[in-house]
Amino acid sequence: MAQLGFIGLGIMGKPMAGHLLAAGHTVYVFDRVEDSVKEVVGKGGVACLSCAEVAEKSDIIIVMVPDTPDVEAVLFGENGVAEGVKKGSIVVDMSSISPIATKEFAARLAEMGVEMLDAPVSGGQVGAEKAILSIMVGGKQEVFDKIKPYFDLMGKNVVLIGDNGAGQTCKVANQIAVAVTIAATAEALTFASKAGADPAKVREALMGGLAGSRIMELLGDRMIKRTFQPGFRIRLHQKDLNLALQSARSLQMSIPSTALAQEMFNAVAGRDGIDLDHSAMVLALEQLANHPVA
Ligand code: NAD
Repeated sequence: MAQLGFIGLGIMGKPMAGHLLAAGHTVYVFDRVEDSVKEVVGKGGVACLSCAEVAEKSDIIIVMVPDTPDVEAVLFGENGVAEGVKKGSIVVDMSSISPIATKEFAARLAEMGVEMLDAPVSGGQVGAEKAILSIMVGGKQEVFDKIKPYFDLMGKNVVLIGDNGAGQTCKVANQIAVAVTIAATAEALTFASKAGADPAKVREALMGGLAGSRIMELLGDRMIKRTFQPGFRIRLHQKDLNLALQSARSLQMSIPSTALAQEMFNAVAGRDGIDLDHSAMVLALEQLANHPVA
Protein backbone atom coordinates (compact mmCIF):
# COMPACT_ATOMS: atom_id res chain seq x y z
CA MET A 1 0.00 0.00 0.00
CA ALA A 2 1.30 3.48 -0.87
CA GLN A 3 2.37 5.73 1.99
CA LEU A 4 0.31 8.93 1.89
CA GLY A 5 1.24 12.45 2.99
CA PHE A 6 -1.18 15.31 3.72
CA ILE A 7 -0.06 18.94 4.16
CA GLY A 8 -2.65 21.59 5.17
CA LEU A 9 -5.17 20.48 7.77
CA GLY A 10 -7.67 23.36 7.71
CA ILE A 11 -11.43 23.39 7.19
CA MET A 12 -11.09 21.13 4.12
CA GLY A 13 -7.86 19.22 4.76
CA LYS A 14 -8.91 17.82 8.15
CA PRO A 15 -11.97 15.86 6.95
CA MET A 16 -10.27 14.87 3.67
CA ALA A 17 -7.27 13.38 5.51
CA GLY A 18 -9.78 11.76 7.89
CA HIS A 19 -11.38 9.80 5.01
CA LEU A 20 -7.98 8.45 3.90
CA LEU A 21 -7.30 7.33 7.49
CA ALA A 22 -10.76 5.80 7.86
CA ALA A 23 -10.02 3.67 4.76
CA GLY A 24 -7.00 2.20 6.57
CA HIS A 25 -4.17 4.15 4.92
CA THR A 26 -1.06 5.40 6.70
CA VAL A 27 -1.12 9.20 6.40
CA TYR A 28 1.88 11.39 7.36
CA VAL A 29 0.55 14.86 8.21
CA PHE A 30 1.85 18.41 8.66
CA ASP A 31 0.30 21.82 9.27
CA ARG A 32 1.93 24.90 10.77
CA VAL A 33 -0.93 24.98 13.32
CA GLU A 34 -0.03 22.37 15.95
CA ASP A 35 -3.58 21.89 17.25
CA SER A 36 -4.77 20.88 13.77
CA VAL A 37 -2.03 18.25 13.55
CA LYS A 38 -3.00 16.92 17.00
CA GLU A 39 -6.62 16.58 15.91
CA VAL A 40 -5.71 14.46 12.87
CA VAL A 41 -3.19 12.43 14.89
CA GLY A 42 -6.16 11.65 17.16
CA LYS A 43 -7.80 9.97 14.14
CA GLY A 44 -4.66 7.92 13.39
CA GLY A 45 -2.46 10.32 11.38
CA VAL A 46 1.31 10.30 11.89
CA ALA A 47 2.69 13.74 12.82
CA CYS A 48 5.68 15.18 10.92
CA LEU A 49 7.70 18.29 11.77
CA SER A 50 7.95 19.71 8.25
CA CYS A 51 6.76 19.39 4.66
CA ALA A 52 10.18 17.87 3.84
CA GLU A 53 9.60 15.10 6.41
CA VAL A 54 6.15 14.34 4.95
CA ALA A 55 7.77 14.09 1.49
CA GLU A 56 10.57 11.80 2.73
CA LYS A 57 8.08 9.35 4.20
CA SER A 58 5.36 9.41 1.52
CA ASP A 59 4.93 8.19 -2.07
CA ILE A 60 1.87 10.40 -2.68
CA ILE A 61 1.88 13.90 -1.15
CA ILE A 62 -1.44 15.75 -1.01
CA VAL A 63 -1.41 19.53 -0.46
CA MET A 64 -4.45 21.56 0.71
CA VAL A 65 -3.36 25.12 1.64
CA PRO A 66 -4.99 28.51 0.89
CA ASP A 67 -3.23 30.29 -1.99
CA THR A 68 -0.53 30.20 -4.71
CA PRO A 69 2.30 31.56 -2.48
CA ASP A 70 1.38 28.97 0.20
CA VAL A 71 1.67 26.10 -2.31
CA GLU A 72 5.00 27.52 -3.51
CA ALA A 73 6.27 27.68 0.11
CA VAL A 74 5.07 24.12 0.83
CA LEU A 75 6.73 22.73 -2.31
CA PHE A 76 9.88 24.79 -2.76
CA GLY A 77 10.38 26.84 0.45
CA GLU A 78 12.67 26.10 3.38
CA ASN A 79 12.00 22.56 4.66
CA GLY A 80 9.62 22.16 1.73
CA VAL A 81 8.55 19.06 -0.17
CA ALA A 82 11.39 19.49 -2.72
CA GLU A 83 13.95 18.96 0.07
CA GLY A 84 12.63 15.52 0.98
CA VAL A 85 10.77 14.15 -2.03
CA LYS A 86 11.84 10.88 -3.68
CA LYS A 87 12.07 10.34 -7.43
CA GLY A 88 8.86 8.64 -8.62
CA SER A 89 6.65 10.25 -5.96
CA ILE A 90 3.45 12.05 -6.96
CA VAL A 91 2.41 15.49 -5.64
CA VAL A 92 -1.35 16.12 -5.69
CA ASP A 93 -2.21 19.80 -5.13
CA MET A 94 -5.87 20.05 -4.13
CA SER A 95 -5.68 23.77 -3.18
CA SER A 96 -7.37 26.32 -5.49
CA ILE A 97 -4.53 28.36 -7.02
CA SER A 98 -3.28 30.02 -10.23
CA PRO A 99 -3.40 27.77 -13.33
CA ILE A 100 -0.24 29.47 -14.68
CA ALA A 101 1.78 28.94 -11.48
CA THR A 102 0.51 25.34 -11.41
CA LYS A 103 2.13 24.63 -14.79
CA GLU A 104 5.42 26.08 -13.51
CA PHE A 105 5.28 23.99 -10.31
CA ALA A 106 4.58 20.83 -12.33
CA ALA A 107 7.56 21.56 -14.62
CA ARG A 108 9.91 22.17 -11.64
CA LEU A 109 8.81 18.91 -10.01
CA ALA A 110 9.17 17.03 -13.32
CA GLU A 111 12.87 18.07 -13.38
CA MET A 112 13.23 16.14 -10.09
CA GLY A 113 11.48 13.07 -11.50
CA VAL A 114 8.28 13.86 -9.59
CA GLU A 115 4.82 13.84 -11.22
CA MET A 116 2.12 16.33 -10.23
CA LEU A 117 -1.64 16.60 -10.52
CA ASP A 118 -3.64 19.76 -9.87
CA ALA A 119 -6.90 18.63 -8.30
CA PRO A 120 -8.92 21.47 -6.80
CA VAL A 121 -12.31 20.67 -5.34
CA SER A 122 -15.82 22.03 -5.06
CA GLY A 123 -18.50 21.15 -2.55
CA GLY A 124 -17.32 23.09 0.50
CA GLN A 125 -16.92 21.94 4.06
CA VAL A 126 -20.06 19.78 3.87
CA GLY A 127 -18.78 18.11 0.68
CA ALA A 128 -15.43 17.43 2.37
CA GLU A 129 -17.05 15.99 5.49
CA LYS A 130 -19.44 13.75 3.52
CA ALA A 131 -16.74 12.75 0.96
CA ILE A 132 -18.89 14.00 -1.92
CA LEU A 133 -16.52 16.62 -3.34
CA SER A 134 -16.29 17.36 -7.05
CA ILE A 135 -12.62 16.98 -8.00
CA MET A 136 -11.31 18.70 -11.17
CA VAL A 137 -8.00 17.27 -12.26
CA GLY A 138 -5.15 18.43 -14.50
CA GLY A 139 -2.25 16.14 -15.41
CA LYS A 140 -1.35 12.95 -17.25
CA GLN A 141 -3.93 10.18 -17.68
CA GLU A 142 -1.59 7.49 -16.25
CA VAL A 143 -0.92 9.57 -13.11
CA PHE A 144 -4.65 10.28 -12.75
CA ASP A 145 -5.37 6.53 -12.96
CA LYS A 146 -2.93 5.85 -10.08
CA ILE A 147 -4.51 8.50 -7.82
CA LYS A 148 -8.18 7.91 -8.74
CA PRO A 149 -8.80 5.36 -5.93
CA TYR A 150 -7.71 7.98 -3.36
CA PHE A 151 -9.81 10.70 -4.99
CA ASP A 152 -12.79 8.32 -4.73
CA LEU A 153 -12.36 8.23 -0.93
CA MET A 154 -12.77 12.03 -0.78
CA GLY A 155 -15.15 12.83 -3.63
CA LYS A 156 -17.95 11.65 -5.90
CA ASN A 157 -17.53 13.46 -9.22
CA VAL A 158 -13.89 13.08 -10.26
CA VAL A 159 -13.04 14.36 -13.77
CA LEU A 160 -9.71 14.59 -15.61
CA ILE A 161 -10.09 17.88 -17.48
CA GLY A 162 -6.74 18.01 -19.36
CA ASP A 163 -3.03 18.72 -18.82
CA ASN A 164 -1.52 20.42 -15.74
CA GLY A 165 -3.36 23.68 -15.03
CA ALA A 166 -6.64 22.52 -16.61
CA GLY A 167 -8.03 21.43 -13.22
CA GLN A 168 -7.32 24.90 -11.82
CA THR A 169 -8.89 26.59 -14.86
CA CYS A 170 -12.02 24.50 -14.28
CA LYS A 171 -12.05 25.55 -10.61
CA VAL A 172 -11.82 29.26 -11.54
CA ALA A 173 -14.85 28.74 -13.83
CA ASN A 174 -16.62 27.03 -10.92
CA GLN A 175 -15.91 29.98 -8.61
CA ILE A 176 -17.33 32.42 -11.18
CA ALA A 177 -20.58 30.42 -11.30
CA VAL A 178 -20.75 30.09 -7.50
CA ALA A 179 -20.12 33.82 -6.81
CA VAL A 180 -22.68 34.98 -9.35
CA THR A 181 -25.26 32.50 -8.03
CA ILE A 182 -24.64 33.70 -4.45
CA ALA A 183 -25.30 37.26 -5.66
CA ALA A 184 -28.53 36.18 -7.39
CA THR A 185 -29.70 34.21 -4.33
CA ALA A 186 -28.91 37.05 -1.93
CA GLU A 187 -30.61 39.62 -4.18
CA ALA A 188 -33.77 37.49 -4.55
CA LEU A 189 -34.09 36.85 -0.80
CA THR A 190 -33.41 40.50 0.13
CA PHE A 191 -35.97 41.66 -2.44
CA ALA A 192 -38.64 39.22 -1.23
CA SER A 193 -38.03 40.11 2.40
CA LYS A 194 -38.21 43.88 1.82
CA ALA A 195 -41.44 43.35 -0.16
CA GLY A 196 -42.93 41.67 2.91
CA ALA A 197 -42.64 37.94 2.08
CA ASP A 198 -41.12 35.49 4.59
CA PRO A 199 -37.66 34.69 3.14
CA ALA A 200 -37.69 31.17 4.61
CA LYS A 201 -40.94 30.38 2.76
CA VAL A 202 -39.64 32.04 -0.41
CA ARG A 203 -36.50 29.88 -0.28
CA GLU A 204 -38.63 26.75 0.27
CA ALA A 205 -40.78 27.56 -2.77
CA LEU A 206 -37.86 28.54 -5.03
CA MET A 207 -35.99 25.33 -4.17
CA GLY A 208 -38.51 23.31 -6.18
CA GLY A 209 -38.34 25.48 -9.33
CA LEU A 210 -35.85 26.69 -11.91
CA ALA A 211 -34.16 29.04 -9.39
CA GLY A 212 -33.42 26.13 -7.04
CA SER A 213 -29.73 25.26 -6.58
CA ARG A 214 -27.27 23.87 -4.04
CA ILE A 215 -26.42 27.50 -3.29
CA MET A 216 -30.09 28.37 -2.65
CA GLU A 217 -30.28 25.27 -0.42
CA LEU A 218 -27.10 25.64 1.66
CA LEU A 219 -26.13 29.32 1.44
CA GLY A 220 -29.71 30.64 1.26
CA ASP A 221 -30.31 28.85 4.55
CA ARG A 222 -27.18 30.48 6.06
CA MET A 223 -28.39 33.93 4.89
CA ILE A 224 -31.76 33.45 6.60
CA LYS A 225 -30.34 31.92 9.81
CA ARG A 226 -27.43 34.42 9.92
CA THR A 227 -24.84 31.64 10.32
CA PHE A 228 -21.86 33.35 8.76
CA GLN A 229 -18.99 31.50 10.46
CA PRO A 230 -17.01 29.72 7.68
CA GLY A 231 -17.52 27.44 5.68
CA PHE A 232 -15.72 29.13 2.83
CA ARG A 233 -14.12 32.42 3.78
CA ILE A 234 -14.78 35.56 1.70
CA ARG A 235 -10.97 36.02 1.73
CA LEU A 236 -10.57 32.78 -0.28
CA HIS A 237 -13.38 33.56 -2.71
CA GLN A 238 -11.82 37.00 -3.37
CA LYS A 239 -8.56 35.19 -4.17
CA ASP A 240 -10.38 32.96 -6.70
CA LEU A 241 -12.23 35.86 -8.36
CA ASN A 242 -8.93 37.74 -8.60
CA LEU A 243 -7.58 34.79 -10.61
CA ALA A 244 -10.70 34.94 -12.80
CA LEU A 245 -10.44 38.70 -13.40
CA GLN A 246 -6.68 38.54 -14.11
CA SER A 247 -7.15 35.65 -16.55
CA ALA A 248 -10.05 37.42 -18.30
CA ARG A 249 -7.82 40.46 -18.74
CA SER A 250 -5.05 38.43 -20.34
CA LEU A 251 -7.65 36.67 -22.54
CA GLN A 252 -9.04 40.13 -23.48
CA MET A 253 -12.57 39.25 -22.46
CA SER A 254 -15.09 40.86 -20.12
CA ILE A 255 -16.64 39.02 -17.16
CA PRO A 256 -18.89 41.77 -15.76
CA SER A 257 -20.97 39.65 -13.36
CA THR A 258 -17.78 38.35 -11.72
CA ALA A 259 -16.48 41.92 -11.31
CA LEU A 260 -19.74 42.93 -9.61
CA ALA A 261 -19.66 39.91 -7.28
CA GLN A 262 -16.06 40.75 -6.34
CA GLU A 263 -17.10 44.33 -5.49
CA MET A 264 -19.80 43.00 -3.16
CA PHE A 265 -17.24 40.74 -1.43
CA ASN A 266 -14.96 43.81 -1.16
CA ALA A 267 -17.79 45.77 0.50
CA VAL A 268 -18.32 43.04 3.15
CA ALA A 269 -14.56 42.62 3.65
CA GLY A 270 -14.33 46.37 4.28
CA ARG A 271 -16.78 45.96 7.15
CA ASP A 272 -14.60 43.41 9.01
CA GLY A 273 -16.26 40.54 7.17
CA ILE A 274 -13.28 39.12 5.26
CA ASP A 275 -13.23 35.89 7.29
CA LEU A 276 -17.00 35.37 7.25
CA ASP A 277 -18.55 32.64 5.07
CA HIS A 278 -19.11 33.71 1.43
CA SER A 279 -22.89 33.62 2.01
CA ALA A 280 -22.29 36.87 3.95
CA MET A 281 -22.23 38.63 0.56
CA VAL A 282 -25.91 39.18 1.44
CA LEU A 283 -24.78 41.83 3.96
CA ALA A 284 -23.71 44.09 1.06
CA LEU A 285 -27.07 43.71 -0.68
CA GLU A 286 -28.94 44.30 2.57
CA GLN A 287 -27.06 47.55 3.04
CA LEU A 288 -28.01 48.68 -0.48
CA ALA A 289 -31.65 47.77 0.22
CA ASN A 290 -31.50 49.17 3.75
CA HIS A 291 -33.26 45.98 4.84
CA PRO A 292 -32.07 42.68 6.42
CA VAL A 293 -33.18 39.36 4.89
CA ALA A 294 -34.09 37.82 8.22
P1 NAD B 1 -8.02 26.94 5.76
O1 NAD B 1 -7.45 28.31 5.89
O2 NAD B 1 -9.10 26.49 6.68
O3 NAD B 1 -6.84 25.83 5.85
C1 NAD B 1 -5.59 25.96 5.24
C2 NAD B 1 -4.55 25.27 6.11
O4 NAD B 1 -3.27 25.32 5.46
C3 NAD B 1 -4.37 25.93 7.49
O5 NAD B 1 -4.54 24.94 8.50
C4 NAD B 1 -2.95 26.48 7.46
O6 NAD B 1 -2.32 26.46 8.71
C5 NAD B 1 -2.29 25.52 6.47
N1 NAD B 1 -1.08 26.08 5.86
C6 NAD B 1 -0.96 27.23 5.15
N2 NAD B 1 0.31 27.40 4.75
C7 NAD B 1 0.99 26.32 5.20
C8 NAD B 1 2.37 25.93 5.12
N3 NAD B 1 3.28 26.69 4.48
N4 NAD B 1 2.72 24.77 5.70
C9 NAD B 1 1.81 24.01 6.35
N5 NAD B 1 0.50 24.32 6.48
C10 NAD B 1 0.11 25.49 5.90
O7 NAD B 1 -8.48 26.82 4.23
P2 NAD B 1 -9.55 25.79 3.61
O8 NAD B 1 -10.89 26.40 3.70
O9 NAD B 1 -9.29 24.41 4.13
O10 NAD B 1 -9.12 25.87 2.05
C11 NAD B 1 -7.96 25.21 1.52
C12 NAD B 1 -8.02 25.32 -0.01
O11 NAD B 1 -9.22 24.69 -0.47
C13 NAD B 1 -8.06 26.77 -0.53
O12 NAD B 1 -7.31 26.88 -1.71
C14 NAD B 1 -9.53 27.00 -0.80
O13 NAD B 1 -9.75 27.99 -1.80
C15 NAD B 1 -9.97 25.61 -1.25
N6 NAD B 1 -11.40 25.30 -1.04
C16 NAD B 1 -12.01 25.58 0.14
C17 NAD B 1 -13.37 25.28 0.29
C18 NAD B 1 -14.14 25.61 1.58
O14 NAD B 1 -15.38 25.55 1.56
N7 NAD B 1 -13.47 25.92 2.68
C19 NAD B 1 -14.09 24.69 -0.75
C20 NAD B 1 -13.42 24.38 -1.93
C21 NAD B 1 -12.06 24.68 -2.07
